[in-house]
Amino acid sequence: MRPLAELDGRGVRAVLFDIDETLTTAGKLTAHAYSALERLHAAGKRTIAVTGRPAGWCDHIARMWPVDAVVGENGALYFLFTAGRLEKHYREPPQTRARNRERLAEVARTILAQVPGTALASDQAYRETDLAIDYCEDVPPLPLVAAEGIATLMRAAGMHAKLSSIHVNGWFGDYDKLAMTRQLFREQFAMDLDGVRAEVVYIGDSPNDAPMFGFFPHSVGVASVRRYAMPAFPSWITRGAGGAGFVQVADRLLAAR
Ligand SMILES: [Mg+2]
Repeated sequence: MRPLAELDGRGVRAVLFDIDETLTTAGKLTAHAYSALERLHAAGKRTIAVTGRPAGWCDHIARMWPVDAVVGENGALYFLFTAGRLEKHYREPPQTRARNRERLAEVARTILAQVPGTALASDQAYRETDLAIDYCEDVPPLPLVAAEGIATLMRAAGMHAKLSSIHVNGWFGDYDKLAMTRQLFREQFAMDLDGVRAEVVYIGDSPNDAPMFGFFPHSVGVASVRRYAMPAFPSWITRGAGGAGFVQVADRLLAAR
């Protein structure tokens, strides 16, 4: 990972970013980070949040934040607010989502019984497609090895599983943040993501960002990305952690105009 100061931001037209501990800092959205997002959007960059957070949050984000769209639940859905209304798009049809939701409850019971100290994530009620197990948000922090154990139980149940800085998310269905971002670009912007990937910067912090780190040549990790073992690391790293790192990326891109 090279220092951010070596990133050439000319030609970057879209900024895609994770939320938890990428835009936020120790769980809070600072005015400084939000303002950086607003400045990017006002400068004409396409801004897209790409998160493991639930549909309920995405409804709010798509409506109120300075973003062009939000990809949520690790790629199960994207929402955008356009022409005065909220549009919701899902990876799976309604019948599949309903069937999968029933199976999630069973896996949740198994995990809560087998991994002491975990809990259902407090935002589980606002999720439409996935199971989020808290290992570091409202429960006393568990070691990463426990989080990886939860992911293993999910995979044994036939789910995809990814770690964020706070939750382990599991879902039935063959998608991730990258697959849904491809779909968003194709359906809403008439763009082939492979063709424009050099015009995109992706900013993240943890293993659920790895598919994006591996795909985008301009991928940036905020400083805390170093604590994880991952299949793919970002090309650049910021000095600041969380939102402070996000602000450094925004400043770098805006100075490159
Ligand atoms: Mg994160």
